[in-house]
Amino acid sequence: MPDNAAGIPVKIIAVGDELLEGRTADTNSQRIQRAIGGHGVQVALIQVVPDRPSDIVRALDRTEDGDLVFVSGGLGSTPDDLTREVVADWAQAPLAEDPAVRAQLEQRWKKRGLKTSSGADRQSQVPRGMKPVTNPVGSAPALVGRLRGRMLVLLPGVPQELEGLLKPVVLMLHDMGALPQPSPTLLWRTAQAAELNLVKTCADIRARYSNLDWSWWLTDWGVDIRLASRSTTAGPGDLAAAEKELDLVLGRLVYSRRMESLPQVVQRLMLDRRRTLSVAESCTAGLIGGRLTDQPGSSGFFRGGILAYADEIKKEQLGIPAAMLREKGAVSRETAEAMATGCRGKIGTDYAVAVSGISGPDGGTQAKPVGTTWVAVATPVAVFSRQYRFPADRQRNRLLTVAAAIDSVRRVLEGGDDKSPWAADDSWCLPS
Ligand code: AMP
Ligand code: MG
Repeated sequence: MPDNAAGIPVKIIAVGDELLEGRTADTNSQRIQRAIGGHGVQVALIQVVPDRPSDIVRALDRTEDGDLVFVSGGLGSTPDDLTREVVADWAQAPLAEDPAVRAQLEQRWKKRGLKTSSGADRQSQVPRGMKPVTNPVGSAPALVGRLRGRMLVLLPGVPQELEGLLKPVVLMLHDMGALPQPSPTLLWRTAQAAELNLVKTCADIRARYSNLDWSWWLTDWGVDIRLASRSTTAGPGDLAAAEKELDLVLGRLVYSRRMESLPQVVQRLMLDRRRTLSVAESCTAGLIGGRLTDQPGSSGFFRGGILAYADEIKKEQLGIPAAMLREKGAVSRETAEAMATGCRGKIGTDYAVAVSGISGPDGGTQAKPVGTTWVAVATPVAVFSRQYRFPADRQRNRLLTVAAAIDSVRRVLEGGDDKSPWAADDSWCLPS
């Protein structure tokens, strides 16, 4: 693989009227960026254009010889899908039916007991010089090839289809020498640490290894940190040395070193240990259970939950004493712990996690301002709880609660049933 591929400018063209009318957010460009991000190339330009030939042509004209160009959208079979024809015309690469694509499309329709749609006529057309890549999710194949000096990749707009195609497309680009070998990168996925705290935690190491490429970004679960030795000034040992130091300072904050989600990690740990989990949710009202069951196979550990949004349900379904609710309040250590133990007993699981909080914008008091949230985890031998003070609006406070609850279960599984999953310096946590 030629090393000079590293210098290739990547340009993305997202085609679709809906993207310019605020109806649909352009998430495809993001997906493309993620898919090629680890490959030592950088996106230089993203253009969002309507389904109009002149606009698509103008966007194509803005790319240059040697660029790697991704075009998303407009490969469907409706009249507004014009990308294939416009690109063929722009590159003077005549369209011709690809019999293998045609056969695949017909087979796909037959399997579903349908007659071939008329869309197959257009979707099996391939511009001369391009190769089709089979769509594992939908019908339109991706098209890849060098035209007018650019390496062009045409992808369907439906995000799931585009996502499914990116892996085989990246492999093909490697084979064609259009992408450099991925530079060595390391990933830390952290939860329950505010970004600023994390930056502080890593500041010393970052200063000593400033020859490495550092990046940080927020996720649904916390903050990811990526280290790469792309920079020409980095020695081969630097990455490994920085890794050791980061592992030490990040410790319990890291839930994974690879691209898996927090619920995936909890699922893996639960299944390995043959343990079960239930949830008692007040302020999140089902969001935690929803995320825990995103993955297939979740029924192997997740049994269910109780959405105890109203105090009556906390009393009736979880056995919270009326006096406790009256004297301590629904958002209190006592209630959160009683919710967790009540849920664990009622549903009959090894573990239960409970949350009760004030997401806002109303309901806060001086003593319990908006963002005050208790998380409790009941294990086979103990119950632990901690008070958080999340700093954001309703939406984000609820997401932070979901991540904190699921991550606290992860920490118990990793640390032991008899140990509190929290430490004194956890972000957003009040001293216990
Ligand atoms: P198309 O392939 O252009 O027919 O797109 C099919 C559907 O995919 C559109 O109706 C949008 O809902 C969605 N879509 C197209 N382009 C994008 C994009 N850049 N980001 C997110 N969704 C998109
Ligand atoms: Mg479209």
